[in-house]
Amino acid sequence: MRQPLSNRMPGIVASCVRIVQQALAPACLLCGGAAAGALLCAGCDEDLPRLAHEHCDTCALPITAGARCGACLAHPPHYDHVCAPFVYAFPVDALVQGLKYRDMLAIAPLLGEAIAASLDERPDVLIPMPLAQLRLRERGFNQAQEIARHVARATGIALQPHACRKVRDTAPQAALPWNERAKNMRKAFVCDADVTGVHVAVIDDVMTTGATLNELARNLKQAGAVRVTGLIAARTLPGSFKKQGLDV
Ligand SMILES: [Zn+2]
Ligand SMILES: [Zn+2]
Repeated sequence: MRQPLSNRMPGIVASCVRIVQQALAPACLLCGGAAAGALLCAGCDEDLPRLAHEHCDTCALPITAGARCGACLAHPPHYDHVCAPFVYAFPVDALVQGLKYRDMLAIAPLLGEAIAASLDERPDVLIPMPLAQLRLRERGFNQAQEIARHVARATGIALQPHACRKVRDTAPQAALPWNERAKNMRKAFVCDADVTGVHVAVIDDVMTTGATLNELARNLKQAGAVRVTGLIAARTLPGSFKKQGLDV
């Protein structure tokens, strides 16, 4: 005989709670599987392309011997060190582009926490790579600042979002051959903060040629910074510069 509704209530409530929980628990962004409250499921997280252990201490490109690559030894850049958890390859490229071009702000904590977990030195302050005013108005947010907020939250390092400004609306780096990108970035930034004696970490989503980071690092060193580290979500490896329209 069927039980009265009042006796069946606990079971019905539990079922409803389960259904609501399943509806609210976000699925893995990449495969749609169960993600246990995280943005990615354990399998997809494990498969993300991570930077090789052996890489140049300055620019983070893979090397087979020594501490620095030939390019950094021959022409040391203004930045001192780059720390990047991921290689700019599938599916990290899709995640980065989702954040930047499709307003998928939920991706920012994933990239920010990955940077925080890969930190190999502790800077004094975090400065997000500035966006030009026009680009900021078009996009509505600075993806580097969104990532930086989560690095700051995970590490407790102070975030200075307005320490530097981009004062020249440069041509999109993605539209230029990589050997013209340094010229394009010249005099693009101004640093308003006094960073005398400070170890600054610049946060950005992607680093390709390093021209943008190098130009900002030049300004930061002029403003007194003793060390500039790039904390980059994804490093582009040689060979993929030309085939991907990258923005750094
Ligand atoms: Zn997945
Ligand atoms: Zn290097």
